[in-house]
Amino acid sequence: MNYTYRIYPTTDQQALMLEWLETCRRLYNRCLRDLKDWIASRKCSLYSCSLNREYIMSPDILFPSYLEQKRQLTQWKKTNPHYKAVHSQVTQDCVKRLHNTWEAFKTKKFGFPRFKKFGRYQSFLFPQFAKNPIQGNVINLPKIGFVEINQHRPIPEGFNIKGVRIVSRARGTVWYAVVTIQCDVKVPAPLPFGRGIGIDIGLESFLVTSDNLRIEPARFFRELQGRLKVLQRRASRKKKGGKNWELAQLKVARLHHQITNARKDFHFQTSHQLCDQADMIFVEDINFNMTARGFLGKQMLDGGFGQFRDLLSWVCWKRGKYFAQVDHKYTSQVCPECDAHTGQKELRERVHHCPECGYKTSRDHASGRVILNRGLESVVPMDCRERKPSAECVLPGIAISR
Ligand SMILES: [Zn+2]
Repeated sequence: MNYTYRIYPTTDQQALMLEWLETCRRLYNRCLRDLKDWIASRKCSLYSCSLNREYIMSPDILFPSYLEQKRQLTQWKKTNPHYKAVHSQVTQDCVKRLHNTWEAFKTKKFGFPRFKKFGRYQSFLFPQFAKNPIQGNVINLPKIGFVEINQHRPIPEGFNIKGVRIVSRARGTVWYAVVTIQCDVKVPAPLPFGRGIGIDIGLESFLVTSDNLRIEPARFFRELQGRLKVLQRRASRKKKGGKNWELAQLKVARLHHQITNARKDFHFQTSHQLCDQADMIFVEDINFNMTARGFLGKQMLDGGFGQFRDLLSWVCWKRGKYFAQVDHKYTSQVCPECDAHTGQKELRERVHHCPECGYKTSRDHASGRVILNRGLESVVPMDCRERKPSAECVLPGIAISR
């Protein structure tokens, strides 16, 4: 579990932390360079073999794995004072981060790790703490010292601090400490019980539940987006790299930060509102990244639905409510009353009208109910689910044998 606290480093501390980030970024890119070179040297493109640039590497050189690069890091530290200046576990974690990305690319079909541009490496992690680093209103970070922290909520009893990630936002002017805490006792996941609702995440409204509750996107987003546009236009007129440009960029970054926070807050409030109403919550298992790239475009990204679903599942867990995702296919093409397929609806068609049973409601509401039905089907207790098909299967079999 992660708790995020705002921290207020002094100017010197900020400069030091920014330097660390830059060192980590270079280390990350250097390791990635080695990784890429190794892969390129082992590739044989038979028909497009270029004569002027082939990577040739001795076959004895091992694949630059995490352990291998960690070993090299100790060598580099002897010659490079920058690497030495950063806390050793932080640099090790930097190498690990690259290899996590690499593993995700291999196993989960995520993107190939990319080089990080200046300013795009925004956090570093202290993976271990022997004892609680937070004392009162300061946090004691190795090699950085005591940093003022706003501990707006205490760390619960019985939890240990596992690691602290320092995050820089808004061009290094706003800093956070993300504290990972761990409890020795394992909390079981909530079991399905009680009243359920299905949630259709939509375009017109932010979401619609199976009870036909509509939640609209918060209005201030529009205003903030408008202001963002103005600032961006202003920033684009400044001469790149100049002092005014830097200031304008900072303003844009701060507003972005404000929008992100406002959105997260809205998502939290909505999650709690939904948890107030039901004991089981079902949502679709849409891959929002894919949808955002496609026809729905910016609106989808704007809503941050992926983040909302993650937060919702977390809030459900915390409040002991059951959360599950159901198959999203054809939710808008099935009638919630009689299960009939009503065929594909156009995007602009906002009403569900079933030709079979005459059920009529808004399109989003119908999808919400379909999601609820599917969710309830998925949580039917095991013994009931097994009994039903076996009874159906055995009887006709006996009939035939006679
Ligand atoms: Zn129907």
